[in-house]
Amino acid sequence: MQNFDLIQRFYFADKPFRGAVVKLQNSFIEALNGHDYPASVNALLGEGLAATALMGIHLKHNARISLQARGNGAVQLLMTEANIQKSQMAEIELPQHGIRAVARIDSEAMQQIPFNLQSSAAENTATTHANHNYLDLLGKGHLAITVEPEEGERYQGIVAADEGSLKLCLESYFNQSEQLPTILLLATNEVCAAGILLQRMPHEDSYGLTPEQKSTGDPVWDNLWQELSTLLATLSDQELMDLPVDEVLYRLFHEHQVKLSEPDPMVFECSCSYQRTAETLKKINALEIETILEEDGEIIMDCEFCSSRYRFSPQDIAQLGLSFEQTRH
Ligand SMILES: [Zn+2]
Repeated sequence: MQNFDLIQRFYFADKPFRGAVVKLQNSFIEALNGHDYPASVNALLGEGLAATALMGIHLKHNARISLQARGNGAVQLLMTEANIQKSQMAEIELPQHGIRAVARIDSEAMQQIPFNLQSSAAENTATTHANHNYLDLLGKGHLAITVEPEEGERYQGIVAADEGSLKLCLESYFNQSEQLPTILLLATNEVCAAGILLQRMPHEDSYGLTPEQKSTGDPVWDNLWQELSTLLATLSDQELMDLPVDEVLYRLFHEHQVKLSEPDPMVFECSCSYQRTAETLKKINALEIETILEEDGEIIMDCEFCSSRYRFSPQDIAQLGLSFEQTRH
């Protein structure tokens, strides 16, 4: 198997469809490193990471996109995030996108789940959507998709997590909330997470089309969308994970003049820092901070994503307090 940590966009000449393929290996392993989640949770996080990168890659500007699944099951929270960097004209280097992930699990409830669900990746075979049931792990809940652009307004879409898989929930989000017909395939095993997205673009975004082509009318595009969707459904999880991106696309769409962008590297990257952690401390009740300092002599904050540890002594807190005061005008 080749070493993949990349995302590539694809599109079809003069047709209102676009897509992307993502492959995560080292970045996926690093994102899970130190967490020791059950295999089925790792698989869900892998799917979430692949989906988040795919949903973010067509954004027009630099942005952080996150997918949060909250439920009342053994898995209370799944959160995956991608930091999408669009290429700048002046930059020679390829844009690099960062990913990170975290899960919160009720370990007692986790043990109540039948064994076959917990160990879906144990045999080192591809985990298909059927053998780790998303709903059994998450229970009743919802999915929130949040986009925070570097410049501009943050926005959030919410959809009920009531389908049998993350793929189905997200497809229904795109179809209903965004009115963007979308098909996602997501596949994971212990060492890899991969995904492919195929999307029908809204008319106003169908750049490159002549007015004539746009007015060809929906039936033509409807039929073609149907055809592309049917072709996509023939891709197996194993092929999605193992084949290089150009082979995946050739295998699926070689009769449809598909064009592939250059690959952008994907890396594990955590945005936590001492300063950001200090900002979080600022929001905690002063009395609470005082109590912890009295009892423990210091405040320890661990990053949930990367496990980095930040320590604040009473002197640090005093200094932070001062600098906070000074920045408030
Ligand atoms: Zn971190």
